[in-house]
Amino acid sequence: MNHADYGPIGLLVIQATSLCNLDCSYCYLPDRQKRRVFDLNQLPILVERIYESPFWGPQLSILWHAGEPLTLPCSFYDEASTILAEQTSELQNQGVQIEQHVQTNATLINDQWCECFKRNRIVVGVSIDGPESIHDSHRRFRNGKGSYALTMRGIRKLQKHNIPVHAIAVLTSSALDDPKRMYTFFRDNGIHDLGFNVEEQEGVNSQSSMQGLDREKQYHNFLKSFWNYNQKDGFPIRLREFDQVMEMIAGGQRLLQNEMNRPYSILSVDSAGNFSTFDPELLSVETKKYGLFNLGNIRDHTLVEATQSDTFHRLLKDMSHGTTLCREQCDYYGFCGGGNGSNKYWEHGTLAASETCACRFSTQIPVNVLLEQIEANGVKAP
Ligand code: SF4
Ligand code: SF4
Repeated sequence: MNHADYGPIGLLVIQATSLCNLDCSYCYLPDRQKRRVFDLNQLPILVERIYESPFWGPQLSILWHAGEPLTLPCSFYDEASTILAEQTSELQNQGVQIEQHVQTNATLINDQWCECFKRNRIVVGVSIDGPESIHDSHRRFRNGKGSYALTMRGIRKLQKHNIPVHAIAVLTSSALDDPKRMYTFFRDNGIHDLGFNVEEQEGVNSQSSMQGLDREKQYHNFLKSFWNYNQKDGFPIRLREFDQVMEMIAGGQRLLQNEMNRPYSILSVDSAGNFSTFDPELLSVETKKYGLFNLGNIRDHTLVEATQSDTFHRLLKDMSHGTTLCREQCDYYGFCGGGNGSNKYWEHGTLAASETCACRFSTQIPVNVLLEQIEANGVKAP
């Protein structure tokens, strides 16, 4: 592989702060009780690192994530937006598109935050797992109290301000029992853009409630029912899992790899300025086999210099081996592109692996359900 096989960087994940006000039972972040904050003096350096490199592209999504970004004040994002506008105005005038996103648990969203999102054009993703009993069984504050009421208050605020809500629901075993309840919850609360993340064995969350053949069958039936309820109502909910595959089928496209295993498609930066590529969930994680996945610090290293490090070569070699195994062994490769490193590492102890429990949930089962629907009903894309 040479530099022409890397990038372009389409997603920049920045850890605005490591702190989170929640303590979800499945959270993989080890330092969520510590308040480390990204120093905005690093932002111009970070922008320079990207645009001095050969890896930048025509579109960049900046995602403030990995901790609860709204534990910082609105002024942090006002300042960040000003810096970004100053640093990238020339590029944007030449047609480079740059947009900001935030992934939040929504518990702190109030009118001031909504104004902040609007004035800085920040796209908002919220985490909501479903009805109260399901959401609160895992998404709690440190004192044990559920976060549902405050999350829903935040979502209502966004809706009041006409800010689109992009939701992610982490599915644990308790959610699978009643697909109708899950479906009607999202439909009736006006949440029309949804993605399911199945609870994963990852980081400090070393066990998942979603392991085993029974769970896989249950998830298959859950998705099938969810699809049927959605179809009966004329598809009010766009479900990410199906949308992506539908688009590929409609466009006759298949993947050769994906952004999680292609170097510098994604750049992740933690609050201290350490950076990594591939899967954002590997950033600043310490493992037995690879040590830290970090490639350097933006203050000290260019992105090109980082590709010359032993760490990068070791990661790339194993990642490429894993992707090759996927390509050779898996019928779903064209819809998946070879999976992601964090699941491979946490399930197999190496990036040089193929199938995982996580990829059966994220790719294989949704594809199976969708193809069954198309075969049975000649379903048209919603
Ligand atoms: S809201 Fe997100 S970062 Fe915070 S504890 Fe829950 S999963 Fe972790
Ligand atoms: S579905 Fe799993 S085994 Fe198949 S290509 Fe993706 S990661 Fe590899």
